Amino acid sequence: MTTSPAVDDGPARLALAWCHTARFLTTAAQLNQLPPTELPEIAFVGRSNAGKSTAINVLTQQKRLAFASKTPGRTQHINLFALGPKDEPDALFADLPGYGYAAVARGAKLRWQKVMAEYLELRRSLSGVVLMVDARLGFTELDRQLLAFVAPRVGNGAVKLLVLLTKADKLNRRESDAALAGAQSVLAELATDESDVGVSLFSALSRRGVGDAAQWLHAGTRAGRGEAQRPGSGAPDALLGGNGEGPADAGTDA
Ligand code: GDP
Repeated sequence: MTTSPAVDDGPARLALAWCHTARFLTTAAQLNQLPPTELPEIAFVGRSNAGKSTAINVLTQQKRLAFASKTPGRTQHINLFALGPKDEPDALFADLPGYGYAAVARGAKLRWQKVMAEYLELRRSLSGVVLMVDARLGFTELDRQLLAFVAPRVGNGAVKLLVLLTKADKLNRRESDAALAGAQSVLAELATDESDVGVSLFSALSRRGVGDAAQWLHAGTRAGRGEAQRPGSGAPDALLGGNGEGPADAGTDA
C-alpha cells in the first residue's frame, strides 16, 4: 500500500508556516507583569537542557528565537512571542524558565515554584502546555511537580497538554517504545473525560515529530481551525480580540 507523504504535507506545512511568524513580544519576571490578553497562549516548559530552546527554534524555523530566553537576566523570565499576521496576532507562545539545575540555591528554587505555579494555575489565557522531557531521562520529580500545578486545568479540559520526548534520535526502536510507554503511564493519571493529553517522540535533529507538533500548536488557534475568514462563525469570543471591530454579534456567551 502506498501512502503519499504529500497527504499529510499540506496541514503540516501550513502549521509550520504559521509557527514561523513567531516574533518576540515581551519578557516578564512574574505573572502580574505579563500583559493581559484574549489570545490563546501556549506555554513551553521543561527542565534545563531538555531541548526546549532547540525545539522552539526548529518549530519556528528561527535559529535564535528562543535564545532570547537564554540571554543574561532573562533566564528566569517568561518570554512571550506573538504569532499570526503582524497587525493582528492570533496566538502567543510563552517560553517559561527552564528548571532543575542542581546548583541552583534554595531561594531560587522557591521563586521558580512560585512563578511557575502562579502562571500555570492562574494565567487566564493559557490554552495549552508543551512539556519537553528528555526521552532518555523520562519525567523527573520537578516535571511531576509542574504537571501537578496544571493538572486541575488539564483535567477539566481548559488547558491541553502535549509532552514531547526530546532527542529521540539518541534512542533505538526498543528504547523509544519504552520511553513512550513510560510517559503514557505517568500521563494516564491526568486523564479525564474532558482532558486532551498527547505524547510524542520528538527530535530537532532528525525532525521526527516536528510537523505533528506544529499542527498541534496551530490547531489551538482560530486560523488553525479554518475560521480566520469567518468572524461571524460563532468562534469563541476569547479568540476574537475584543477590539470592537467586526460584527457586534460576533461574540458568544463565554
Ligand atoms: P534547553 O535548556 O531546554 O533550552 O535545551 P537546549 O535546546 O539548549 O538543548 C540542550 C542540549 O541538547 C544542546 O546541546 C542541544 O544541542 C541538545 N539537543 C537539543 N535537541 C536535540 C535533539 O533533537 N537531538 C540531539 N541529539 N540533541 C539535541
